[in-house]
Amino acid sequence: MAKTIDRLAPVFDTVIAGGRVIDPRNKLDAVCDIAIRKGRIAAVGHTLARGTAKVIDASGLVLTPGLIDTHAHVYEHVSGDFGLNPDIVGVRSGVTTVVDQGGPSALTFDGFRKFIVEKAKSRVLAFISAYLAGGLLGHRYVDLYGPSGINVKAIVKAARDNPDLVRGIKAHAEPGGYSRWGMASMKLAKQASRELKLPVYIHLGTLWPEAKKKPVDAAKIIDEVVPLLDAGDILAHPFTRFPSGFVAEDGSIHPLIKEVIAKGIRIDVGRGAHFSFKNAERVLAAGILPFTLGADLHGYNVRLKDGGRAYRGMFTGEGVDSLIAEDRASPFERPYSLHHAMTELVALGVPLVEVVRMATENAATMLGLEMEMGALSVGMPADISALRIVDGNWTLVDSDSETRKTRQLIHPDFAIRAGKLYRADSPLLPNIAAMAA
Ligand SMILES: [Zn+2]
Repeated sequence: MAKTIDRLAPVFDTVIAGGRVIDPRNKLDAVCDIAIRKGRIAAVGHTLARGTAKVIDASGLVLTPGLIDTHAHVYEHVSGDFGLNPDIVGVRSGVTTVVDQGGPSALTFDGFRKFIVEKAKSRVLAFISAYLAGGLLGHRYVDLYGPSGINVKAIVKAARDNPDLVRGIKAHAEPGGYSRWGMASMKLAKQASRELKLPVYIHLGTLWPEAKKKPVDAAKIIDEVVPLLDAGDILAHPFTRFPSGFVAEDGSIHPLIKEVIAKGIRIDVGRGAHFSFKNAERVLAAGILPFTLGADLHGYNVRLKDGGRAYRGMFTGEGVDSLIAEDRASPFERPYSLHHAMTELVALGVPLVEVVRMATENAATMLGLEMEMGALSVGMPADISALRIVDGNWTLVDSDSETRKTRQLIHPDFAIRAGKLYRADSPLLPNIAAMAA
């Protein structure tokens, strides 16, 4: 009898067995198996027939659709120390898709495709820079980012030439640029966005110093930016400790934020150096939940030796642990992966399933790719993330050095990208076992 069943059983290449599968899009949260065939999801269910398939034991792990980091900086080498290697942020950190926010530009997009996208094991997409210069050295030279450095025709052409990779346009609305040019750069970015029918992703919170003798009222920036935006556009860094975010210095939430939500404008956490627990608590308490997460890791905020350059060559052994010892700082005061942002939101009381939704279903929607990622639906590419919830007494630290305690740390275990397995061995990840000991 058993033989008959075996013969009729579907042939899978791999079965990931016995994990807790959380797939918000398919309303699934249960212990079950996921089967893969030819790089695609073949079945999800209880005790699938394994036949000759390779079995990966996932008991004790949480399995989700491949995590999508909506805010990454991975234009390595071209954007200077700023751009990280896509795979240390991606598959080697348990994340299957990374979205570069504004690294490549109309002038440098071909290099992005050839040297980053085609070489990476992770899936890499981009919000193209509004500026001809792109995100060189983290936008260090402010004069490159005024309206004279923007060419709408060039953005439109580059985006149309690369429709498989360009999912939107990156721009900024913050005091430094505003003090120089008002909303002029934003308006040009939005013009390209309307022509392309692609969203803009707007950085909030101080990036450049304000022009001398031209101090600005940061709250006015939101007043002026919100009317320019359409449903589907994205505001990033809502919890920033810097002016021009959602929360004013007196702790009040900007009165336009409710309108932001009503208009269908989306919110991305963009963790990076822009995370304040106090502000996050205020925004969440007002009933405002971000749509997506975004780790916003780059060579300047992972603080590896030598301003970020040293992460190159650190692919085995010497990693973030030696640096922690050197700085005598907690790894939890700076982002180390998308899981860090997930841990923080869970610590703030957002249910795990909702946090997973932000990094899967919602991120796919933001990218307009809900048919090919963000869920474990049969026929989709087999992008799967496995994570471990590590119990302990953890102290999380935000960008203002404020702390919060949590009992549960979300840590990556492995990722499967298009059916292929990658262990979470990124040098950016803290050594949880050593820290717990
Ligand atoms: Zn960023």
